Amino acid sequence: MSRPIQARFNSLALAHNYQLIRQSAPTSRVFAVIKANAYGHGVQRVVEALPDADGFAILEINAAMDLRRFGVQQPILLLEGVFSAAELTACAEFDLAIALHLPLHIEWLEQAQLSRPIAVFLKLNTGMNRLGFPAESAPAWAERLARCPNVASVTVMTHFACADEPSKGIERQWLRFIAATQSLALPTSSANSAAIFAYPQTHGTWVRPGLALYGSSPFSDQSAASLGLQTVMSLCSEVIATQTVAAGESVGYGATFIAPAPMKIGIVACGYADGYPRHAPTGTPVWVAGQKTRLLGRVSMDMLCIDLTPWPELDVGSSVELWGEHLPIDEVASAAGTLSYELMCAIAARVPVQTQ
Ligand code: PLP
Repeated sequence: MSRPIQARFNSLALAHNYQLIRQSAPTSRVFAVIKANAYGHGVQRVVEALPDADGFAILEINAAMDLRRFGVQQPILLLEGVFSAAELTACAEFDLAIALHLPLHIEWLEQAQLSRPIAVFLKLNTGMNRLGFPAESAPAWAERLARCPNVASVTVMTHFACADEPSKGIERQWLRFIAATQSLALPTSSANSAAIFAYPQTHGTWVRPGLALYGSSPFSDQSAASLGLQTVMSLCSEVIATQTVAAGESVGYGATFIAPAPMKIGIVACGYADGYPRHAPTGTPVWVAGQKTRLLGRVSMDMLCIDLTPWPELDVGSSVELWGEHLPIDEVASAAGTLSYELMCAIAARVPVQTQ
């Protein structure tokens, strides 16, 4: 018997979410965003669950090259492009499309000796102010790229800062993008998960969903289920010990929780070294044997404590879900003061994954 923690991966749910996104953006092609080890789900696992995906968008060039070695044929986009001129050689060899966001990238492209031309995505800064060329410079750069023999095709792209926050919206960014690109008649890519659902006008040639693909809602006021999304990953474990504590006794490091009355405590094999957020406060929901209970005290490296007082019959071996099928990841993230993105990406390598 090994330590009972496990991440359960539902490949059918992932395929369902991909189809739902495809139906939500019916005139676009869909890049499944698989950066950061597919948001913690495992790149290979996700790619195998989506054999008909239109394409994959990733950040890490080594993982992208591995996908080609595994036989992936669809377009692969490197979302942050290359970090050296030498990487362009690999992009040509492995047929990887790249985002360009610095003049230096274009100079590298112009000077490179490549085995074949590559597809490029001209990244425009429309207001996120992170990566990208000033939007209004798009025509000049597009013209320069059109003259470069190492360029197979040009798509214009941007990324929204607030597509998930209706009160802020995307209006300013969208107007800048349209103003800068509509005369170019080039393929476009701008929508992340939130924009796919909230702003159909942004769908363009390629949409780029990450979060929604993995079954989490990009909106704080709409659940994943209400959007039709299914849970892809569940972080599961078991109660490995119980304690009965008297009123006034504390629980865990720092004695941050003091029992107000006699209580039954469950000790769960999951801690921050497994990817559970250490700062989740007392009260964060935890699912145990079909019911919702709450986290008590500080999360330790390998364990956390939950309230079992209402269920004297629950004992060692009771099943626990930290987030997933029975307890939406968005709910846990919100209680822990973080985002589901962070919870997904945090799942530690020591947590075995079981594919369902
Ligand atoms: N496109 C780019 C450039 C991104 O950086 C990301 C993620 O951060 C995405 C698309 C996917 O965003 P989301 O996970 O919100 O759908």
